[in-house]
Amino acid sequence: MTGSPTPLIAGNWKMHGSTAFASDLAGSLAGRMSDRGDKRFEMLLCPPALLLGAVLDAVGTSSISVGGQDCHTAEQGAHTGDISAAMLADAGCSYVIVGHSERRADHGEDDSLVCAKASAAQSAGLVPVVCIGETLEQRDAGKAVEVVNGQLRGSVPARSSAATVVVAYEPVWAIGTGRTPTAEDIAEVHDALRAVLSEIAEDGAGVRILYGGSVKPENVAEILAIDNVNGALVGGASLKADDFWAIAQAV
Ligand code: PEP
Repeated sequence: MTGSPTPLIAGNWKMHGSTAFASDLAGSLAGRMSDRGDKRFEMLLCPPALLLGAVLDAVGTSSISVGGQDCHTAEQGAHTGDISAAMLADAGCSYVIVGHSERRADHGEDDSLVCAKASAAQSAGLVPVVCIGETLEQRDAGKAVEVVNGQLRGSVPARSSAATVVVAYEPVWAIGTGRTPTAEDIAEVHDALRAVLSEIAEDGAGVRILYGGSVKPENVAEILAIDNVNGALVGGASLKADDFWAIAQAV
């Protein structure tokens, strides 16, 4: 890891959980954070929208941050079923994931929509976690770096800075599959993303670039040791307190 930015360990619960589950999991993590006073990393929990209240209650005054999994581009309006960034901020969130590959695939979201969502998040005072990543077909065609660089340029709002954006590199083929790229492949992509961020962001060297895709307690140390990896976005393993805590402890 490149030193300066505080690593972010983020959990994306996706469409999992119940009120009781959320209280237990977030409460258990909050207890560990408060007991240990651990400042080596920042922890972020992104539960389904309906469980935000339970998670916010459970994390209480601990240092754990809470975020949404998506937001609309508008502040309010006739958008049935959607949630605005302002609503997430009002509920107590400080982050929101945008452009996750599942939303890009399931809801046809493209870079310009993701950029508009990230921009709406920033206007509401939230930090967007902008997700990008290549498909297996694109990687096999030798286009991984070209694809993610294009997504980065298209999805990160102009004038973003280390304080206002986080980037998550998540190869689509590694999400939920148990497969991960080699350390060399992750390094190649993160170095390329850093170079683009240095061009397009105000202090690109400080923007956190997370790796996501089948991160587990067993592989996280190797991943976090790679240059320009400033944390992890974790799906499946964030649903178990012991696993997620073990991942954070590898920082
Ligand atoms: C994710 O969905 O963001 C993710 C990284 O999932 P998993 O850790 O389960 O691969």
